[in-house]
Amino acid sequence: MQELLRVKNLSVHVAHRGRPVSLIDDISFRIKKGSMFAMFGESGCGKTTLALALTKLFSNGNNFSIQGKININGSDILELSDEKLLSLRRDHIRYVFQDPVQSFNPVMKINKQIYHALNLKTKSDRRRETPKIREFLSKSGIENPDEVLRSYPHQLSVGMLQRILIVMAIFPAPALLIADEPTSSVDAALRYRILDFLDEMRRTLGMSILLITHDLEVVRRYADEVAVMYAGRLVEVAPREKFFDEPYHPYAQLLMEHFFKPGNIDADALQSLTGTVPSPLDTPQGCTFQNRCYKVQSDCKIEEPPLTEVNPERFVRCPYWK
Ligand code: SF4
Repeated sequence: MQELLRVKNLSVHVAHRGRPVSLIDDISFRIKKGSMFAMFGESGCGKTTLALALTKLFSNGNNFSIQGKININGSDILELSDEKLLSLRRDHIRYVFQDPVQSFNPVMKINKQIYHALNLKTKSDRRRETPKIREFLSKSGIENPDEVLRSYPHQLSVGMLQRILIVMAIFPAPALLIADEPTSSVDAALRYRILDFLDEMRRTLGMSILLITHDLEVVRRYADEVAVMYAGRLVEVAPREKFFDEPYHPYAQLLMEHFFKPGNIDADALQSLTGTVPSPLDTPQGCTFQNRCYKVQSDCKIEEPPLTEVNPERFVRCPYWK
């Protein structure tokens, strides 16, 4: 499969009380064309910062500095002019965020918001595209698209609003859709309907998806590849099946034990998962996972290990992974 996006040595710092604080440190990965790439991690590990960094979408951009390379279709996003960056966000990389309610104007009907987002200015543009919009809404599981199009946001459920946002984001299909916890505000049954729809659209339209999630079951069902984040770093990257057969990093092993394969690791080690990810203001010297790691060695507290390819397509940030 061809490569769509390559991220190399990406770091993000934010200015805090006059000094730079590291939010993302030395992240490298690539996403293949047409694939579902899952970025997994606990709250506060930097997943959303990474998603925003990919198109420099920080609300107060002046406080952030980004280093590294983000290549898509041969161009480095960090080198693009503001104008080219805007057209990249409009045409090639789109987002679906966690909170659909905040994404809509409460006093404008859904059809007008869709027309505006899709830049359908004339009546003939709208007449031409509306049947397709209706079809996509139906495919997403919305049973009465005409009524929904005539509604205001407050008349619709959160699940419906999220599906409308997804339709707006994939119409027309971008090369890459970044879906940041797109189902965090819906129940389990709807979660899988929405993700099934996203997955079907990925296959039909040939787009790639970067799916950000804290749910390993979602990763297991939908991802082609998985990257595990911890404290602003990638600690493991692997094809989905290999990862679920045998996770390498101690953090991934504990997670897997906790969710899927009880009995391999003792209960005391599992207890470490009840701890928290270190704050960017208080990251320890050496390996950032040392305080929760059941394999910790004395040299883990001296130097942070790099993310290393230890087997074909398998990367891990721990010299003691075996
Ligand atoms: S480097 Fe050390 S502390 Fe970090 S994950 Fe590996 S064994 Fe654990």
